[in-house]
Amino acid sequence: MSKRRFIALLVAAGALFGGLAEAAAENNAAEKGKVIHYTVNPGDTLGSIALQFGVDYDDVRAWNELEGLTVEPGQELIVKSDKKPKKKRSRPLPVVHRIRRGDTFEGIAKKYGVSVRKVRRWNRRLNPRRLQIGQRVRLYIPGRDGKSVSWGSANRGRLYNGIALEDSEGLNVRHVSRAYGTKRTIQLLRAAAADVKARWPDAPEMVVGDLSYKRGGRIRGHSSHQSGRDADVSYYYRGNVQLPNLFAMSYEQIDAVKTWHLFKTLIDTGEVEYIFVERDLQRALYEYARSIGYSKEALAPILQYPRPNHEREGIIRHVSGHDTHFHIRFKCGPDDRNCD
Ligand SMILES: [Zn+2]
Repeated sequence: MSKRRFIALLVAAGALFGGLAEAAAENNAAEKGKVIHYTVNPGDTLGSIALQFGVDYDDVRAWNELEGLTVEPGQELIVKSDKKPKKKRSRPLPVVHRIRRGDTFEGIAKKYGVSVRKVRRWNRRLNPRRLQIGQRVRLYIPGRDGKSVSWGSANRGRLYNGIALEDSEGLNVRHVSRAYGTKRTIQLLRAAAADVKARWPDAPEMVVGDLSYKRGGRIRGHSSHQSGRDADVSYYYRGNVQLPNLFAMSYEQIDAVKTWHLFKTLIDTGEVEYIFVERDLQRALYEYARSIGYSKEALAPILQYPRPNHEREGIIRHVSGHDTHFHIRFKCGPDDRNCD
């Protein structure tokens, strides 16, 4: 159910962001090489892609009906060529593991997905039979071939091959330099915003505050937001009022219909760990959900309200300071490492 919903969302997003161009390009594909579906990697340009495949830059634009000169990571392109693209290998990620009680080289190798032999080679100075708590073990985790990777915890983590969230259908980004996430984080936010916009064409754009820095790590004003799985986003305001920025929302002002739809769409993918929402705004969502037929039992796993704030249950829960925006944390994905 949740998986299917996730795929349906991605398909919907794909159709919105160039699916039509793809179909058109495929129709007259035969004359020049094989049709290759290429996903743009971080750092790619139209020129570098054309070079890789030995084709003309203008052809790439024409096949994909691109109006501008830029492509963005994660974007799907059609290329007609008999040349195979060179596999782009990411550099290994250097990592330091601190020895904890019970650690062995075998256990560490297994945890990080590398061979025991390599762990030994990288750490010749350590005696695997006399490991001491707190000792530092050096590791080099194989790159994921350009895939974005959330590393470590959101409070102490990194982001590799982070993808920028840029303005898209129904979505306005405040500071792109602070809006990097994993591919999955970016896709889900874009798809959910586009979904609201498709249902209510008059809906305002949701305003996106901070996600993470391109390489993750500490980011001013937040204790988390370090590993590409967190985002701060405005609530929808009643009457389709476009907010210029994050805005302190009240029970009377929140557009519970659209905000509920957005949350439900995201939660149904099964990819959401939690969403922080001020209690009073939860009340508005709860009352709306009840009014359209959700039972108390059905809402219990979704909303903390009406349970008291200290009962930390429900995906949507209260943490003070979340009246100007909700904070969403996505779960660890299959490409993420050491993730919690
Ligand atoms: Zn936040």
